[in-house]
Amino acid sequence: MKRREFLSSSAIAIGAIGFAGCYKEEKISIAKGVNINRAKTTKLKLATSWPAHFPIMGTGVDNFAKRCRELSGGTLEIKVYPKNILVPAMQVFDSASANQLDAFHSGVYYWKGKNSAFSIFGGMPLGLTSEEMMTWLRFGGGMELWRELYAKFNLYPLVGGSTGPQMGGWFKKEINSLSDLKGLKMRIPGLGGEVMKKLGVNPILLPAGEIFTALDRGTIDATEWVGPALDRMMGFDKAAKYYYTGWHEPGSILEITFNKARWEKLSKEHQAIITSASEEMTSIMVQEFRYKNAKALQELPKDIEIKDFPKEIMDAAKVALDEVLASEAKKSEDFKRVLKSYNEFVKLNKPWNDISTKHILEIRD
Ligand code: CA
Repeated sequence: MKRREFLSSSAIAIGAIGFAGCYKEEKISIAKGVNINRAKTTKLKLATSWPAHFPIMGTGVDNFAKRCRELSGGTLEIKVYPKNILVPAMQVFDSASANQLDAFHSGVYYWKGKNSAFSIFGGMPLGLTSEEMMTWLRFGGGMELWRELYAKFNLYPLVGGSTGPQMGGWFKKEINSLSDLKGLKMRIPGLGGEVMKKLGVNPILLPAGEIFTALDRGTIDATEWVGPALDRMMGFDKAAKYYYTGWHEPGSILEITFNKARWEKLSKEHQAIITSASEEMTSIMVQEFRYKNAKALQELPKDIEIKDFPKEIMDAAKVALDEVLASEAKKSEDFKRVLKSYNEFVKLNKPWNDISTKHILEIRD
């Protein structure tokens, strides 16, 4: 029932809402007249890290492929393979890098083992929101760095959606102080997990299919996932009562990434179509997450308590995050460069954000 609701309401009107690309290497001159060879269809294989037609992310990439077909007048066919059909969910990066796959749709922070700097392109705990992340990537130099570092893996990334702010997670017990975190077993990946580790949590990585049972049986004490819409599908509201507001994933970025050699062989028209369709997909996904999270929040069972982490914990998280970032920057020149670019945008953005978005959010209610 819920799943069907998600699927049907995901069919919101998809208009041509892409906006002009501004990355330096994408200043594509307008072709004089249509220059697509209609006799020839280009076929690409794209694998994802999600189950088939998974709400929001999976349906988003399905729509992306559909839009590429429509916008190209049928000359560009992207076949979407859900996780584990063509390659396992966590092998899409390696397969595309090794010319075994044309493209993939996944989450950037999954690849921090390849290069720790990639975790910054995926989003920063206590950091930029989706809109701000995309502003840094497009105008603040982030995308140039991302493309430079992915080129070493023979890959060419495009932003492929964003989740908007994620929730802090489901806890079986109320968290009132730092001491309540000591020894707590929590499923939390990425930089957020490393911060939690410094606060005494035992961060655990579990495949999606095993999280509910682990939480329900008490094998783990807490888990984060995404937000109300996708979390309810996982059934977490039946296994834990305390739902904490977010801090560790304020605007996680997803990617549509191409094998670089394959990308460069595509016609300029097909490159432009893919770029536009990825912009459209990103815009729709952020709106869809907002709308469906807002709805799902209203539908949470009445016994669920929504809580903020105590100030003591967030203050300690800020200190721990600085330590984690300083230590990564010491280990990796790439991490240091990407962090520097990110921080420059944070500094530029803050005074304007304070008197605009933040100000409006504070006064309007
Ligand atoms: Ca998450």
